[in-house]
Amino acid sequence: MDCIFCKIVAGEIPAYKIYEDDNVLAFLDITQGTKGHTLIIPKKHIRNVYDLDEDTIFNVFKVVPKICNALKKAFSPIGLNIINNNDQPLQSVFHFHVHLIPRYENDGVNLSTINNYEKFDQSYFETLKSEILNEM
Ligand code: 5GP
Ligand code: ZN
Repeated sequence: MDCIFCKIVAGEIPAYKIYEDDNVLAFLDITQGTKGHTLIIPKKHIRNVYDLDEDTIFNVFKVVPKICNALKKAFSPIGLNIINNNDQPLQSVFHFHVHLIPRYENDGVNLSTINNYEKFDQSYFETLKSEILNEM
C-alpha cells in the first residue's frame, strides 16, 4: 500500500520517533507548525475516524497525556491543541492520526470555530439531536 505513515511504521522512511509500543507510534510532524508538533498514529492502517475500532482509538488516546506532558515540560507552551482531520477539507495523509500542537504566544495558528449561536432556536437543536440519534 502506498501510505507514507505505513512506511514510517515499517522503517522504510525515517521519522523522529518519540514514542512506540506494539500498537502505536508517535513522531514529530515534518512541518513543525509549532515547536513540538507531534503526530500519534496506530500502526495498523486505518483511513480515518469512520473506520476506527474501539481498541485502536483506546490505544492511541491512552498515550496522549504522557506525550502532551512531555511536550509541556520540554517546551513550556501556553496551551496545546489536539486535532484530527477526516476527509475534506484538511486530511492529506489517509492513515488515521492525531495532531498534538503545542501553542505559544503569537504563534499564528488559528483554529477558532464560527459562533452561530444567534442564528438558531431550540427547535433547531432538537432537530439536530434527533437526526443524530436516528443514526446511532
Ligand atoms: P493531515 O493534513 O492529514 O491532518 O496531516 C498530515 C500531516 O502529516 C501533516 O501535518 C504533514 O506535515 C505530516 N506529514 C506528511 N508527510 C510526512 C512525513 O513524511 N513525515 C512526517 N514526519 N510527517 C509528515
Ligand atoms: Zn497507512
